[in-house]
Amino acid sequence: MTTFADLGLAPELLQAVADQGYEQPTPIQAQAIPVVLAGRDMMGGAQTGAGKTAGFTLPLLQRLAHHANTSASPARHPVRALILTPTRELAAQVEESVRAYGKHIPLRSTVVFGGIAMDPQTAALRRGVEILVATPGRLLDHVQQKVLNLGQVEIFVLDEADRMLDMGFIPDIKRIIALLPAKRQNLLFSATFPDEVRKLAQTLLHDPVTVQVAPKHATADLVTHRMYPVARERKRDLLVHIIRTRDIKQVLVFCSTRLGANRLAYQLNREGVHTAAIHGDKSQAERIEALDAFKSGKVGVLVATDVAARGIDIEDLPFVVNFDLPNTPEDYVHRIGRTGRAGKAGEAVSLVCPEEHERLAEIERMIKKQIPREILTGFGPDAARTSSLMPERRRGGREREQPSLVASGVKAAPQPTDPIFYAPYEPEQAAPAAESKSMAPAGAAPTAAPKRQVAALLGGLRRTGN
Ligand code: AMP
Repeated sequence: MTTFADLGLAPELLQAVADQGYEQPTPIQAQAIPVVLAGRDMMGGAQTGAGKTAGFTLPLLQRLAHHANTSASPARHPVRALILTPTRELAAQVEESVRAYGKHIPLRSTVVFGGIAMDPQTAALRRGVEILVATPGRLLDHVQQKVLNLGQVEIFVLDEADRMLDMGFIPDIKRIIALLPAKRQNLLFSATFPDEVRKLAQTLLHDPVTVQVAPKHATADLVTHRMYPVARERKRDLLVHIIRTRDIKQVLVFCSTRLGANRLAYQLNREGVHTAAIHGDKSQAERIEALDAFKSGKVGVLVATDVAARGIDIEDLPFVVNFDLPNTPEDYVHRIGRTGRAGKAGEAVSLVCPEEHERLAEIERMIKKQIPREILTGFGPDAARTSSLMPERRRGGREREQPSLVASGVKAAPQPTDPIFYAPYEPEQAAPAAESKSMAPAGAAPTAAPKRQVAALLGGLRRTGN
């Protein structure tokens, strides 16, 4: 069994790791640490949750340790390592890790990201830091203000490159790379490797070592996947039912849109399920407050959109729910990466309405397995609506007798024969429908097709509309 000491880490770092309570390196750490210590460029296939932050931070600290000094002069503290992340939350968490792992080495670090005042960041940069964690846009703002010189960077880390691509950051990243000295060590991490990330890796990395760790979702043994077919308008009831009957204390729930996340959080709170929602309109302080409330157990449910949840590190999260299926199969992989971390078992549940059938098929193609279906009594979608939305029928094919959402390898519910089951679902009480209307901005249909969402995390419920 490999230990941290076997990897060649200095005593100060071994102490920091022990302080964190880590007993042995995760697979990505065991592979990455020696590579980074040797000064090699690296391409790491791993997502948040695999322990990659320590995988690059520990050796990075060791390589820079000889620069540590206690001089007050800013000139003695130029930026030696630049770590770019796509989101503020991830940036904040990475910098927290840098501080935790580096607490016995007097190197300075700070984090800069958008959405908050520049001044305190400027002041920290002017004092001088060896390790800078940043999101691309705000970093360039500081460069423009001439408070930042990247001319002495020795190690450049690009974290979650695929998400950078999704968020349109690649041009900014190229601009930033152009500001770095030609001779440097480069580390690139990505959960997936679309062509553009590969192209970027080719230009960025010199003779890289590739370190690939099977993402948690792919191992399948740690995360149980399950899907519940359900009519769209009954998803919330089903979610509450699952939370209550299974006595779930902590669950991260994904919605496709900020509006949907807001509305769901509002409705869950109305039903007495303490919930916070993360979204991009909120200040950084509000997001952190909501995340803390979730981590500390003050709220049991955190509703988030994909971008908002990206990079959030919540340890031992046992349960993830896809309230809406994600727009891309890659996002399913990212979402599932929230559970089954650090060797703990996790459960990923998807509430799938007939309208999401095609997305489900795409996800199953990508993960190369069928997600087991389970119909909970009283929550299955009715046959007429399901079959009418199947792709075969839209292409003019023969009408299907069996809804294919429940058809394959699954505990299919007996098909209803009473005509009442063929009528559109009407909620029993008028109240929830009225609530949901009150949450929607004028003109926004609650059933509008989810759009790709580019912002959004926490924020709780102080706002009741957008
Ligand atoms: P990361 O993939 O870097 O976001 O790390 C995911 C989580 O795993 C974080 O909460 C870390 O604190 C934790 N972690 C990292 N390395 C180890 C380790 N060797 N043993 C146990 N937990 C770890």
